[in-house]
Amino acid sequence: MVDFSKEKIIDILYDDSQNDWLFSLADKTRKKYVGNEVHLRGLIEFSNICKCQCKYCGLRSPNKSIERYRIKPEDIVSFAQKAVNMGYKTVVLQSGEDEYYSSDVMCDIIEKIKENDVAVTLSIGERSFDDYKSFKEAGADRYLIRIETTDRELYKQMHPNMDFNNRLRCLSDLKTLGYEVGTGCLVGLPNQTIESLADDILFFKEINADMVGIGPFIAHQETPLKDVPNGNFILALKVMALTRIILKDINIPATTAMETLNPNGRIIALQSGANVVMPNVTTTEYRAKYEIYPNKICINENPEQCRGCIEGKIKSIGRTIAETKGFRGNR
Ligand code: SAH
Repeated sequence: MVDFSKEKIIDILYDDSQNDWLFSLADKTRKKYVGNEVHLRGLIEFSNICKCQCKYCGLRSPNKSIERYRIKPEDIVSFAQKAVNMGYKTVVLQSGEDEYYSSDVMCDIIEKIKENDVAVTLSIGERSFDDYKSFKEAGADRYLIRIETTDRELYKQMHPNMDFNNRLRCLSDLKTLGYEVGTGCLVGLPNQTIESLADDILFFKEINADMVGIGPFIAHQETPLKDVPNGNFILALKVMALTRIILKDINIPATTAMETLNPNGRIIALQSGANVVMPNVTTTEYRAKYEIYPNKICINENPEQCRGCIEGKIKSIGRTIAETKGFRGNR
């Protein structure tokens, strides 16, 4: 067994001559610990209104050039029901940090969705312990909140008016409350070092993350990072592969951002450690407006097309679509 010290991780991240070995070891590890099933999570992007100013994100509040939208609670529930009818065993509710969706509003949505036999994942940013507790009691199963980077200085540069310690507090509260917790990072932020990416991977291990999403940074024209080159697809894939090898049995999505940089990105990711895909189940009218980064895939497709397309691709590489909710440990 290879020793994955920080030095070893850094060495692998720098040295592209080991890539074939790395991707194949990640694929074997995926097969051994989570098998050949791919879990599909239906993603509903229900609001692009955000109070934050993350330097990389197109939804940042200073961006006046996007048309903002908020999907009504009853419509979110009916999108979720449609996703269940299409066969999804998990729905993911994602949005900007939009205070319209108070604790009461969110709990009502979660309770109604949970009348169906489906797992609910939230991805709505930083909230109080009490909010997280209420969401859990309403039935939420999982929560995604990427640390984005563990380099505190870089975190500060990228997130005006935000506090790294609060991000850590969120992750810790969510674990305490019994959620399955997802985190992750961006690869290719300006001034991000290889050493800090190694720290990111070790951080995922340290907090015992149940899910880890890794995505390349993609420059958005209406952000302060508009002239920064996009992240490197292969480097993002390597961070993901190392995360699989080191954390073993967790859930790892083949992220949409990977497919934006490489037309076959999600399939390549599924063959390099990933075991989850999150097809978009938001209706076409909203998709282009949820522009966290440009050239997002599938913005002109509808939920049925996305499901059919990804199912075909997954089966073509000899993998199957899971019929279970896909909790960590294959529950
Ligand atoms: N408001 C929620 C959801 C954020 S959007 C939250 O704070 O968790 C989901 C993810 O998109 C973010 O965590 C970030 O890692 C990613 N993202 C944002 N802008 C991006 C960009 N320009 N390129 C690639 N990924 C981006």
